[in-house]
Amino acid sequence: MPLDDRYRLAFRLYPYARSADQDAAAPVRHPVVVVGGGPIGIATALDLGLQGIPVLVLDDHEGIGQGSRAICFAKRSLEIAHRYGCAGPMLDKGVVWNLGKVFYQDRKIYDFNLLPEEGHRFPAFINLQQPYFEKFLVERVREAQADGAPIEIRGKNRVEAVEVRGDHTILTVATPEGDYRILADWLIACDGAGSPLRSMMGLNFEGRVFKDSFLIADIRMLSESFPTERWFWFEPSHKAGASTLLHKQPDDVWRVDFQIGWDVDRAEELKEENVRRRLDAMLGPDVEYELVWSSIYTFQCRRMKAFRHGRVIFAGDAAHQVSPFGARGANSGMQDADN
Ligand SMILES: Cc1cc2nc3c(=O)[nH]c(=O)nc-3n(C[C@H](O)[C@H](O)[C@H](O)COP(=O)(O)OP(=O)(O)OC[C@H]3O[C@@H](n4cnc5c(N)ncnc54)[C@H](O)[C@@H]3O)c2cc1C
Repeated sequence: MPLDDRYRLAFRLYPYARSADQDAAAPVRHPVVVVGGGPIGIATALDLGLQGIPVLVLDDHEGIGQGSRAICFAKRSLEIAHRYGCAGPMLDKGVVWNLGKVFYQDRKIYDFNLLPEEGHRFPAFINLQQPYFEKFLVERVREAQADGAPIEIRGKNRVEAVEVRGDHTILTVATPEGDYRILADWLIACDGAGSPLRSMMGLNFEGRVFKDSFLIADIRMLSESFPTERWFWFEPSHKAGASTLLHKQPDDVWRVDFQIGWDVDRAEELKEENVRRRLDAMLGPDVEYELVWSSIYTFQCRRMKAFRHGRVIFAGDAAHQVSPFGARGANSGMQDADN
């Protein structure tokens, strides 16, 4: 089911524009090129640009919001975002939480407080839809550019080929107006879990796929029947999933994540009536909600043996992929940018 238009339309933040490099007689050389305008590519560009290091981001889309993915952003990510100057809007928009509860069927078996001390600037976690997290990073780039930070983002610029030379790489970039080539002293690959650059360079990605599927449903629900805590059920009595996870997000949206098994008919499971059947079993027949997103994911735990290959550095999902459960994907990628 497509992401709610209210999320998508606002987030077309860097539409394609022809660049001078496309008309240059010879490929232009850049000190740093970041491939991928996901959260990690933009965070990396901000970090470098704020230090005065010229950085060019190439992204094959024109903005953010390619689906509902991360929601939990950790204290450490907020601390890093604070250094970039954009933690404020994240914290203002995000739903703050420190507490979690774990249930077996209907019985609470464990609870935890991820930040039992007073006096910290940031909470253990905020819940914030990934498109908002990315939007605040891009908005900070725009501010930094206005203050002279040498950051450029080019939308609809897809890297199609890379040639690795001793002290630089040569990139072939596809645009709506044809291909062009540029040189990069340093290349940072933030091109996501499927990393085309990793494949182009023939590099490994070791680990395994977990044979299970998870159905996520983001629903808009005005009911206050759940507190602002992370709730997780093993074998819940509603039987809508082998396990179920519930998180509150901004805009009265809740993330429900059902473990539905490996061997499922995805098209069938994603039919609205079937998603609602699970939600109704969990929430009860009287709770009204609007379905704003649903999708099925499986997860892998993989990493590259080395993240640096000469003058090419891999970061974020391109370098390592983990299960969404520990909320470590984007959060660990933020630490890559910081490193
Ligand atoms: C259901 C789900 C829930 C999750 N929950 C959490 C959570 O709560 N907390 C958390 O920290 N993480 C979570 N994650 C993980 C998080 O979404 C990812 O770790 C994060 O998006 C990785 O960011 P990235 O910038 O490395 O890659 P991506 O976000 O995948 O961005 C890669 C970018 O590269 C671009 N690109 C790809 N190829 C090219 C090319 N050839 N040329 C130019 N551009 C290219 C893509 O278009 C994209 O814009 C979740 C993931 C899922 C699926």
